[in-house]
Amino acid sequence: GFKCGIVGLPNVGKSTLFNALTKAGIEASNFPFCTIEPNTGVVPVPDPRLAALAEIVKPERILPTTMEFVDIAGLVAGASKGEGLGNKFLANIRETDAIGHVVRCFEDDNIVHVANKVSPASDIEVINTELALADLDSCERAITRQQKRAKGGDQEAKFEVSVLEKMRPVLDEGQMLRSMDLTKEELAAVAYLNFLTLKPTMYIANVAEDGFENNTHLDTVRDIAAKENAVVVAVCAAIESELAEMDAEDREEFMADLGLTEPGLDRVIRAGYELLDLHTYFTAGVKEVRAWTVKVGASAPQAAGVIHTDFERGFIRAQVMSYDDFITYKGEAGAKEAGKLRIEGKTYIVKDGDVMHFLFNV
Ligand code: GDP
Repeated sequence: GFKCGIVGLPNVGKSTLFNALTKAGIEASNFPFCTIEPNTGVVPVPDPRLAALAEIVKPERILPTTMEFVDIAGLVAGASKGEGLGNKFLANIRETDAIGHVVRCFEDDNIVHVANKVSPASDIEVINTELALADLDSCERAITRQQKRAKGGDQEAKFEVSVLEKMRPVLDEGQMLRSMDLTKEELAAVAYLNFLTLKPTMYIANVAEDGFENNTHLDTVRDIAAKENAVVVAVCAAIESELAEMDAEDREEFMADLGLTEPGLDRVIRAGYELLDLHTYFTAGVKEVRAWTVKVGASAPQAAGVIHTDFERGFIRAQVMSYDDFITYKGEAGAKEAGKLRIEGKTYIVKDGDVMHFLFNV
């Protein structure tokens, strides 16, 4: 699955948010074939298209696609120097596909701030400095390694060194690699190093209940994000935590009172999903209507492989309808009659919203 790691200084609301995510999430017992670590929450990706498809197909069950959030607590100043459990945390972040960086943007005198005052800019700097230092370390080691190979005439190593040399001063200043304008080739050359500051990142601004507008802390986070190719989602973790405790009916009422149309967590989940460069295709049968996740650019066989590896290996062809056609013509039969059901082969690139049916050899 695709993983988004949650990081942030202590006392910014990480656990509060993470617990709300986990409660909104899926029972571990629904995933008998994989072990879910206690610090991992598997959450359904909210998608109103599923209900619309189900309205037509009337399936026995509806299954949303999911993504994982991993709570990576304990990243503090000095982590890159191996202080405390620092290195372990950095290693955990390295394994994630994206980063959700929680930043405290609410004032509350009862809750101690590690630096004694609410200051998103300096909080972000503390964490990002650690990430940059960790990357600087990997960068310098790689330069040393690849310089030897470059001297021996290895052209690939030579190119890699040139990319790394460009990155080093950026990291040295504590800046994020994702703020650089790098070509596909440059990114590919260093992809194996899994740089932390290259990972797609969203800042999750934890604001007070009335802190969604006219909040200078939130403005600060937005300015920082804009400069380094990151996105911002504002939530109030305290509200999310209350919502997560309620049954469906109370939740609707509470949200209506607050003027919310959906839980803030849904925005966090969707932003995480978009960050990962993912999109969704559907299977729509009478047994189940289901959403599946693929990387943008995935081919039809790769999409089939998400359901089962055998489907990818034995892929013959796919029947494809767009979501809009499926809805407009009220299902497969109607879409087929209208000439909207396509037969696609191995080179077909899946589009977001495709309703697919695979034909394969076993
Ligand atoms: P963590 O150390 O980052 O995991 O932070 P916690 O989630 O444990 O939160 C630290 C404290 O801040 C707890 O007492 C929370 O109840 C409180 N807190 C978290 N989010 C909010 C919020 O949105 N508003 C207010 N007022 N308090 C919050």
